[in-house]
Amino acid sequence: MKTLSHHIAGAPRPGASGDWIDDLAPATGALIARVPRGGAEDVDAAVRAAREALAGPWGRAGAAERAAILEEAARRLEARAGELAELESLDTGKPVRLAREVDLPRAVANLRFFAGAVRHDRTDCHEAAGALHYSLRRPVGVVGLITPWNLPLYLLTWKAAPALAMGNAVVAKPSELAPLSASVLAEVLSQAGLPPGAFNLVHGLGPEAGAALVVHPEVRAISFTGGTATGSAVAAAAASRFKKLSLELGGKNPTVVFADADLEAALEGTVRAGFLNQGQVCLAGSRVLVERSIHERFLEGLVARVRALRVGDPADPATDLGSLISEAHRRRVESYLALAREEGGRVLCGGGRPPRPGAFLEPAVIAGLSPASRTATEEVFGPVVTVHPFEGEAEAVAIANGVRYGLAASLWTRDLARAHRLGAALEAGLVWVNCWLVRDLRVPFGGVKDSGLGREGGAWSLDFYSETRSVCIRT
Ligand code: NAD
Repeated sequence: MKTLSHHIAGAPRPGASGDWIDDLAPATGALIARVPRGGAEDVDAAVRAAREALAGPWGRAGAAERAAILEEAARRLEARAGELAELESLDTGKPVRLAREVDLPRAVANLRFFAGAVRHDRTDCHEAAGALHYSLRRPVGVVGLITPWNLPLYLLTWKAAPALAMGNAVVAKPSELAPLSASVLAEVLSQAGLPPGAFNLVHGLGPEAGAALVVHPEVRAISFTGGTATGSAVAAAAASRFKKLSLELGGKNPTVVFADADLEAALEGTVRAGFLNQGQVCLAGSRVLVERSIHERFLEGLVARVRALRVGDPADPATDLGSLISEAHRRRVESYLALAREEGGRVLCGGGRPPRPGAFLEPAVIAGLSPASRTATEEVFGPVVTVHPFEGEAEAVAIANGVRYGLAASLWTRDLARAHRLGAALEAGLVWVNCWLVRDLRVPFGGVKDSGLGREGGAWSLDFYSETRSVCIRT
């Protein structure tokens, strides 16, 4: 069993309260770490360290120097990728193969990408008669990063890399359910030469450490990824303090399959979108809309493929689905399966507990529900998809847009004009055509409606983690 510490001013620091949170391995229920239960006092110490870093050499470091530190951190993270993938799998219950193929490469890519982005960043100069107006980017200052448990290192580096690239000092609060990799990141950044205080880590519960970070008067920006209800509380607390705010929230994303699609590819894409990471992905395609003429055939193919998914030991490279994040979360997902039955849905496969310890759940496909039912419109965040027939483009768009969320959509068709029409008509921050989760770190990422506020990625991240100022010189 590990004992974690906060990481403040470049060194491990025990929690002020002396209280602990138990970190359990969801696949076995075993206690794997004791985590300090941070609070306002720890957050305050971290913010003080961050301010001192900004006043010291870190505040004077140029873009090339900051980029070099991120590149060195990427190299060190990559060298430890095998060990870190195992840690991420242990902490979250996800298959180690997924952590190796997705979480770790992406965490390394985040650090490298934003190192490159800041090396190539530039600002404008507007020449006028008798004056030059040029822009300067300055760091925002101390920024608070709050992240969820589903992609712990992937999402923490997605925020920390651009924040550090732009010269901010960070206080991060990772999820209490999957805190292990964040502690390794803190260590790796220090070893890569990041000055003390530039990256601080405070562990703890959301309503305690997280809330204290959001209201701290010296924290000038909050980047939050998590649930929509939590995001709303974070927004309310941050708004009256005029903090910059980026919110990456929940989703209930449609996979829309037209009769003219390549059906084999659409089936494969639908299964991947629905069940990767046990369906615990904000971008998960959890509402499958299928054109009526192929609905029965598609459903049959989908159920056959989902039945063939292997649920089991996350450490086994042959496993497709590991454990859900916790016993409590499994019960929450199961409550939606019960609700689906009450709402008239038919669970065509899955939904049972495999005969093994841990928070495992067999992947489920549900048909027969109204697209307006609660099961089909609320975020379940588990291995559950609902399937709905539609007739024609207009109905597909109406059903797809008929939820409070608007994060992503995946569209399957061979009709290029239709792809363009729906690309514009679907209320989603990201639309994938004949694919899902194809990511390019340069493109804007974020949701519309209740899926969030603001965009991160590429230049959008550089904008969020900086204040652009204007200087005018009379010539
Ligand atoms: P969550 O909202 O419960 O927690 C997210 C983080 O916020 C955790 O670190 C938690 O400790 C903290 N937190 C909780 N209450 C807080 C408060 N009052 N003040 C400040 N911080 C607080 O979410 P989760 O269960 O960890 O993650 C799952 C959710 O995250 C899903 O809804 C999923 O869709 C969403 N998510 C969104 C994206 C995206 O990019 N849009 C990516 C991944 C996950």
